[in-house]
Amino acid sequence: MTDPQDWLATFRPKPLHTYLEAAVRDHGDRPAADFMGKVWRYDEIGALADKAAAGLQALGVEKGTKVGLCLPNTPYYTIFYFAVLKLGGIVVNFNPLYVEREISFQAHDSETRIMVTLDLKIIFDKVETVRREGAFDTIIVCPMADILPQPKKLLFTLFKGRDRASIPKDAAHPRFADLIAGGRTARAVEIDPDQDVAVLQYTGGTTGVPKGAMLTHTNLSANIEQMRTLFAAAQPGREKMLCVLPFFHVFAMTVAQNLSVVLGAEMVLLPRFELKMLLDTIVRKKITLFPGVPTIYTAINNAEQTKSYDLTSINLCISGGAPLPVEVKTQFETLTGCILVEGYGLTECAPVVAVNPLDENRRAGSIGLAVPGTQIEFRDLEDLSRPVPEGEKGELVVRGPQVMKGYYHRPDETNRAIEDGVLHTGDVGYRDPDGFIYLVDRIKDLILCSGYNVYPRVIEEAIYQHEAVEEAIVIAVPDTYRGQSPKAFIKLREGAEVSAEEMKLFLKGHLSPIEMPQEIEFRDTLPKTMVGKLSKKELVEEEAEKRAAA
Ligand code: AMP
Repeated sequence: MTDPQDWLATFRPKPLHTYLEAAVRDHGDRPAADFMGKVWRYDEIGALADKAAAGLQALGVEKGTKVGLCLPNTPYYTIFYFAVLKLGGIVVNFNPLYVEREISFQAHDSETRIMVTLDLKIIFDKVETVRREGAFDTIIVCPMADILPQPKKLLFTLFKGRDRASIPKDAAHPRFADLIAGGRTARAVEIDPDQDVAVLQYTGGTTGVPKGAMLTHTNLSANIEQMRTLFAAAQPGREKMLCVLPFFHVFAMTVAQNLSVVLGAEMVLLPRFELKMLLDTIVRKKITLFPGVPTIYTAINNAEQTKSYDLTSINLCISGGAPLPVEVKTQFETLTGCILVEGYGLTECAPVVAVNPLDENRRAGSIGLAVPGTQIEFRDLEDLSRPVPEGEKGELVVRGPQVMKGYYHRPDETNRAIEDGVLHTGDVGYRDPDGFIYLVDRIKDLILCSGYNVYPRVIEEAIYQHEAVEEAIVIAVPDTYRGQSPKAFIKLREGAEVSAEEMKLFLKGHLSPIEMPQEIEFRDTLPKTMVGKLSKKELVEEEAEKRAAA
């Protein structure tokens, strides 16, 4: 393991837009982005970002101005991301699937001034409603048709006219083409990487109320350099990165977009997860790098159609955001012959904190080792300032250059999360004698059963060992005698049939009596978050409502 201090001594934070400038310099004539078959080179993306920066500056964007990006994965995202950052502006990521209420909350909370979005009704109309209510003044309109390759553009223009929003031609709705016209150049802006916020990234965090994590240029630059160190074996200018996770989520923003720029890799952009499109794209582009979340790898493993695709171009996959069941990893590696490693991160750390070695030293079930320059410790769950001995479970705390500056105008929440430069993650885990880290669960998901801490993840892992299981979620439900007890929700593989009694019999061999789910419910689908992580929240709320009504 490298000493965090050694790596830190060599780390030089950079303003983020300089990474795109370096890619233009080193890989200018190589493909930067593929959207549905239309390709942009790095010099083209760089030139568009420069022109967009000049246009934004003319609209009044300056240091500290918040610009919202409400975009699926398209070249527009990368162009505006770097344009805003070049001006010292702050990118605020909006999920285009948000409803108006969510867009409005985040726009007000972040003080977003300008929003960038597509001209599609399904996104634009929501953003426009929020604008009319006064959240922000201006929407920069990016036409979908202009980024499609010729035949698709024609079909879109002919048949998808109804999908396009009708947008007034006025000063509140500048078009992308007008923004970049006129041959303007942006005035240079001085950026202090340590102090200047680059991205306001909204997260429920550990307390549930959405709040904006302030990620500085240094935070994001550190995570880029940490990933660059780990990806030393990648071939600059040659890799093809599958970008199916949305860039508005911090994992994809750093590991798919920013890492691609640093490696001069081609970003192959998918605007949403659709299995056939994803498999076709892997084959069409001969994808080499594929960051994902466990549910995506699971879906590929389990689909019948996967068998007819040759996925062997993939060299390396990084799974993050949620636990990667060992079976899923093994099956996916066998299917593709690639290396699939698990990593761990959170919004507040820009996001990567730990990753497995990208070689045969990776360990299934572990989130790996701390990334360079990062210290991970485990603290007592009762007395959060006391480190626990090696091998014992405790709260995972992080110190490193990627730890956020704080939550935007929420000093109390910031002080609760960061103490003397150490971030409390709300995750429980432990370290083995070789330094490998294992996550057990989130503190807030622990089940307090007759005074014992029961970890839902341990139960989920046991359930996944049953061959008929596709997905599983375990939550705490109230129990008159024990305080709380575990309840399991299970989605079986297609065609499989298992009863709750049979499942309990199977689990007897894997769990202690206190861990045994008191209830097992089978469902056809399980709730997921917008990035495809299995989500407990809906099930916890459903159970609470059911019990309140009983
Ligand atoms: P977010 O800030 O929304 O990206 O969520 C971060 C949270 O996702 C972390 O605090 C963890 O609880 C969870 N998480 C991320 N990576 C993993 C992983 N490999 N295994 C288990 N949980 C993870």
